[in-house]
Amino acid sequence: MCKKFIVTATPPTTNGDLHLGHMSGPYLGGDIFTRAQRLMGHEVLYISSTDDNQSYLLTKAIQEQRPPKEVAEDYSAKIKKSLQLAQIGLDEFTSPDHPVHVREVQSYFMELYNQGYLVEKDIDFLYCEPCQQHLYEAFVKGTCPTCAAPCGGNFCEECGNPNDPTDMIEPLCLRCQSVPTVRSNRVIMFPLEKLRSQLANYYNQNGYKWKPRLREWYAQFLARPLPEVPVTNVCEWGVPVPLEAFSNQVINVWFEMLPGHLATLKRRYEHHASEHQLAWDGNEDVNIVQFFGFDNSFYYTVLHTAMIIGLAEQQPADSFIINEFYLLENKKFSTSRKHAVWASEFITPENSDLVRLYLSLTGPEHKQTNFTIEQFNCTSQSLLNELFRPFLSPRNDKGQAGTTSIDDVIHSFKGLFEQLYSEQFFSPSGAVHALKSYTAQVNTYDDVSQGKALLALSLFAYPIMPTVSAQLWTALTGKLEHEMSWHDFSQVEVNIQNGLNVIESRLLVQTSVG
Ligand SMILES: [Zn+2]
Ligand SMILES: [Zn+2]
Repeated sequence: MCKKFIVTATPPTTNGDLHLGHMSGPYLGGDIFTRAQRLMGHEVLYISSTDDNQSYLLTKAIQEQRPPKEVAEDYSAKIKKSLQLAQIGLDEFTSPDHPVHVREVQSYFMELYNQGYLVEKDIDFLYCEPCQQHLYEAFVKGTCPTCAAPCGGNFCEECGNPNDPTDMIEPLCLRCQSVPTVRSNRVIMFPLEKLRSQLANYYNQNGYKWKPRLREWYAQFLARPLPEVPVTNVCEWGVPVPLEAFSNQVINVWFEMLPGHLATLKRRYEHHASEHQLAWDGNEDVNIVQFFGFDNSFYYTVLHTAMIIGLAEQQPADSFIINEFYLLENKKFSTSRKHAVWASEFITPENSDLVRLYLSLTGPEHKQTNFTIEQFNCTSQSLLNELFRPFLSPRNDKGQAGTTSIDDVIHSFKGLFEQLYSEQFFSPSGAVHALKSYTAQVNTYDDVSQGKALLALSLFAYPIMPTVSAQLWTALTGKLEHEMSWHDFSQVEVNIQNGLNVIESRLLVQTSVG
C-alpha cells in the first residue's frame, strides 16, 4: 500500500551558515526518512524554508552592522549551499519574503483572532532604556526560572520550557549588558489553558509514538497551568500584525512557522501544478512527520498543535522526530559564539556520503553526543571499510554459513531496515549498526550469493549514503538511480565485478579533513 507523507525540517535561522550540529539533526534526519520512504514506493514531499524573521537575525545584523535583509540573503545562500553539499534533498525550500507567505501567516492569525482564541492583553515587558528596545528572545539573556540554566528570553534550550522574560533570574540586555526596566504593553496573547483537554487528548492518542524524553516533557508540561503565549512582538522586522491598533508589532516567528509550512506547500504546487498534491487538511490520508531539535518541542508539540486544534482546518502532526544537542569538543555548537564546524567548509562532494554515514552513527538521537574532527578522521574511513571491504577480500571459510539461505538473511534485514527507517522507530544510528552486522553476516556466504547481497546493501545503505549506493546499484544492474526499488530486487540480474570496481574506487578515496 502506498503511504503519503509531508515531511518538514525546522526552518533554519539565517543568522549564520549551518554547522554540523544543525546538519546532524532535522535536516539529515528528514532526508534519510524521505529517501527511505520513496525507495519503498511511498509518496513523500520534504519541505522547509529559511527562518528570516527571528530576533536572532536582528541581533546578528546589529553585530555585523548590516541591514537585516542583506544578512538574511547572505546566510540563506550559504545555507542552501550547505544543504546541497550534504545532499539534503528538500523538494521545496522557500524564504518568508514572499506575498504568499505573508498572506498565509496573516490570514491564519486573523482566523484564530476572530474565533476568540487570540486575545488582547496588557502585559509587562522587559525594556532596555539605553537601547530603546523591547527585550525578548535573542535580545535578552538570564537564568531560566524553571531549570536555572542560562537561557535566552521566552524559551529555554536546556529544559524546553517557555518563559515570561520578566520571570527570568537576573536578566540583562544582550546588546549593552544593562539591567532592563519593566514596561507595560498591549499585545496579542494565545491562552493555552482553554485548549487543555484537546491537547491532553492529542497526547493520549499520539504520545506513545514519541521518544521517551519528549513524552516525559509533555506530560510534565500538562501537569502545570498552561501558559499564555505572546504571539506578537513590538518590532518592525517580520510579518506585520494585520490589525490597526497593533501596527507597530509583528507576528511572532514561532507562530509564523506553522502557516509558513502551509505557504511553502502552496508555493510548491503553484509551480508544480501537474504533480499529485499532498494536502495538510486531514481529508486525505497524509502523514505529517516533523523533524526538530528537542529545544523546539514546546513550539511544535504544543503551540502549533493548539493552533491547529483552534482552527480545525488542518490535521495535527502524526509524528514528531526529535534530536538532542550534538556537541563539538564537548561544548554546544554555537552560531553566535562561532564555536562550530561549518557544513559548507567541512562537507565536499567527495566526502559527503562519508559525513552522512558518520553523523548518522554518532548523531544525538537519544542523548547529547560529541563530535571531534580528529575522531571523524580516525574512525569514518574504518567504518566505510567495515561496510564494504569484506566484499573485496574473499574469505577462506565462506560457505560455512548455517542453514539459513542468503535470501532469508536478506529478507530479515529488509524487515529490520523498514523499521529503522519508519516514523515510529526511526534511527539512523541503528541503521548504521544494522548495515555493519548485515555485511558481517552475508560475507559468510559463498561467492555466488555475493552479487545478491551487494545489491541489497546498495538499497539498505541508500538513505544514508545516496551517492555511493546509487553508483553501486547502477554498476550492478545497469539501471538508473530513480529505478532503484525496495521490492522484487532479488529477481534483478547482477554484474558483480562492476559492483566490486565501484567499491574499490570509492574506498580508495582520501577523505581526511584538516
Ligand atoms: Zn530551563
Ligand atoms: Zn541594551
